[in-house]
Amino acid sequence: MTDTCLEAIKQAIKLSEEGVSVAEYMQVCLSDPKHGYYMNNDPFGQAGDFVTAPEVSQIFGDIICIFLIQSWIDMGKPKPFALVELGPGRGTLTADIMHLANNVMPEFCRNLSIHLVETSPFLKEKQQQALANIENVEWHNTIDNLPTDIPLLIIGNEFFDALPIRQFIFKQEKWYERLVCWNEKTSKLDWTIYSKSSKLNIPFKAKDGDIYEISDITQDIMQNICSRLKEQKGLALFIDYGYVSDGLGDTLQALYKHKYADILDNCGEQDLTAHVDFSALEQIASNLGLSTTDIVTQASFLQSLGIEQYTEKLQAKATAKQAEDLTTAYHRLTATSEMGSLFKVLAVSY
Ligand code: SAH
Repeated sequence: MTDTCLEAIKQAIKLSEEGVSVAEYMQVCLSDPKHGYYMNNDPFGQAGDFVTAPEVSQIFGDIICIFLIQSWIDMGKPKPFALVELGPGRGTLTADIMHLANNVMPEFCRNLSIHLVETSPFLKEKQQQALANIENVEWHNTIDNLPTDIPLLIIGNEFFDALPIRQFIFKQEKWYERLVCWNEKTSKLDWTIYSKSSKLNIPFKAKDGDIYEISDITQDIMQNICSRLKEQKGLALFIDYGYVSDGLGDTLQALYKHKYADILDNCGEQDLTAHVDFSALEQIASNLGLSTTDIVTQASFLQSLGIEQYTEKLQAKATAKQAEDLTTAYHRLTATSEMGSLFKVLAVSY
């Protein structure tokens, strides 16, 4: 057993041919059972490394709740059904959804069981606290253990961006996988590329130095979810940092105490994320014959569901301080300079 995350990575590098892939590096840094970032940290909020939309304000969860209830009604109110959250963090989103649903549509709550997919025992404990008053909650380490015989309403907020990606770099008409190695001279982690080129079938033109990213695990999970939706019926809603295109580019980033940091520093103590390729997600769903929405920005999604009017309604009954906080939250969730444009939304259904 190694004592630190850095040692665990050095060990993996030692066992590798020329270095570990970006995906292996992310996997150890984020999810190593002993040293991984999510295994030992509460990264959310002002004291953590970043703030996610459900942690900004309850209005986010309220709007998602309205969307889910409407979708359930549109599906003909199937009973029973599973409400699934992928990577629930502190459990805030599901708690907020259930809180509002209990008030506006008890029938929705009476017919569901809640299923949280979470790999971190540390965060599972936080989720148990957040959902202490709610019955019928089960945790799963992987989506493989979700129920197989009832419709699924699935939500994933900032889930896919936490999953490992591989990176390839274009050099003299060939693609080479980017690796993390140990530099003896500097006694630090360093970047290198695999000496053998990779056969990638990329349908767009690249120039020297371009980077192409792919997340095998994201694609596997999406494939699995879409097959289930087809079989069991239901809907999945994904919200994440992401892009819509044949994008080339390096989107891997490290966040340490609300600041961008070097990806190879602070192993196991900082968040590593990559932007999600929404076109790839949509493609998987369409290939299986599912219906997909347009990929829209978070601002446009929330606004089309009435977040502006909803916020104003809450403000009419709020104290001056609460009203000001709501204005700040609304801005944070929808402004282009904040989360409004960078975050994308895609829903897929049977
Ligand atoms: N949805 C939450 C948290 C996002 S952070 C929010 O919006 O606040 C990413 C979450 O995914 C964390 O809970 C992390 O532990 C979890 N996670 C990371 N990799 C996972 C995997 N392979 N399977 C399930 N959960 C995972």
